[in-house]
Amino acid sequence: MDDWRRAIPRTDAVLALPAFTEAAARLGAARVKAAVRAAQELARQGVIAPDAVAAHALAMLDAPAPARAVLNATGVVVHTNLGRAPLSDAAVAALVAASGYTDVELDLATNTRVSRGVRVRALLAQRAGAQASLVVNNGAAALVLVATALGQGRELLISRGELVEIGAGFRLGDLLAATGARLVEVGATNRTRLADYAAAMGPATAAIVKVHPSNYVMSGYVEQASVAELVTLGVPVVHDIGSGLLRPDAALPDEPSASASLAAGADLVIASGDKLLGGPQAGLVVGRRDLIDVLARHPLARAVRVDKLTLAALEATLGAPTPVDAYRLADPALLKERAERIAAAVGAGVVETQGRIGGGGAPDVTLPGWAIALPPDAAARLRTGTPAVLARIDAGRTLIDLRCIDPDDDEAVLVAVQRALAAGAVGEPGMPGEPA
Ligand SMILES: *Cc1c(COP(=O)(O)O)cnc(C)c1O
Repeated sequence: MDDWRRAIPRTDAVLALPAFTEAAARLGAARVKAAVRAAQELARQGVIAPDAVAAHALAMLDAPAPARAVLNATGVVVHTNLGRAPLSDAAVAALVAASGYTDVELDLATNTRVSRGVRVRALLAQRAGAQASLVVNNGAAALVLVATALGQGRELLISRGELVEIGAGFRLGDLLAATGARLVEVGATNRTRLADYAAAMGPATAAIVKVHPSNYVMSGYVEQASVAELVTLGVPVVHDIGSGLLRPDAALPDEPSASASLAAGADLVIASGDKLLGGPQAGLVVGRRDLIDVLARHPLARAVRVDKLTLAALEATLGAPTPVDAYRLADPALLKERAERIAAAVGAGVVETQGRIGGGGAPDVTLPGWAIALPPDAAARLRTGTPAVLARIDAGRTLIDLRCIDPDDDEAVLVAVQRALAAGAVGEPGMPGEPA
């Protein structure tokens, strides 16, 4: 290693400096660590001197944050209103490294142009057990591209039980219809059999779109034709699995995975990058190489392409453990210990609580954990403090669930709770409409 690289100070050494421990208590450890990593990366690239790392990181932390960092104490892992998946340290470092000039469309070894994202596309295909993959702006863009490229002026079959509203008034059926494909609704809300699809098929049928109803569960007298059944009909089957599991996960038995769907014969699988996959906002399409080529060459592909930052963060996400996995699989006993420590320090109690996957995924899965129970009026003070802490209100209590908080940030949570309780005790004026 070059000497000047060796001179770059280590992360823990910088974080241990008083200015950084103070900043961590104020802004949250994750943000402070990200600033140090960013400064180290700039030093590695020779943009700043190694001995300027600490000063540069502090300067970044002093700059007003373009978006406010929030400590997520709701227990909801993929929190839509908090930007879905928090990125891994590796993805943050990759974002920083890609922020300057980067080899996004150049093979440096041969000095030849390569198509954008070849590396991450190969990695994604391999992880999903697919022939090929494409990355676009988000899951909705992937659906639009697929529906346009395969279905424009033709017909797409979709079950009446799978006409999902994906959030904030956006309905998947409207999105598909906006592409100029004709949607043919098949079956009944609760039951759609293979025979329903077969009866609706005709010369204009371009594909069958199967959608995982990720944000709701139907139970009772229900039936939906499986991917394995649908592929027997002889038209391309496109499976929108929503949440982005690449491989089956024992902890989420009802979530479809890309590899299982492809193994069952699906021609294309669509998923989001920033839900269970734990990466940046992106739309992932994996499956048959000939169809992926059709999508990649379609004029619309250019309008939904991702930037170099997304590609860098996605590639790093595929190669490292993600906070989403760490948080959803967090050990309840450890969550209890952490909650008890903070609760004891402020004279509060802990209660058992249920976390959620969130992000419109695995709606029937609950994640057993523990929360610090505070009076109801603490929630608004925590939310508007610095760092902002978003708690959950339940049965008249403010609940602080540490599941989605990095243990490095427990100290910042403790300080925030102490402040919120102290402000309550001296009767500081609350938010409008807040209980006194
Ligand atoms: C989330 C979701 C989408 C939309 O994906 P975005 O990445 O939010 O655009 C589409 N289909 C399903 C089934 C989803 O769960």
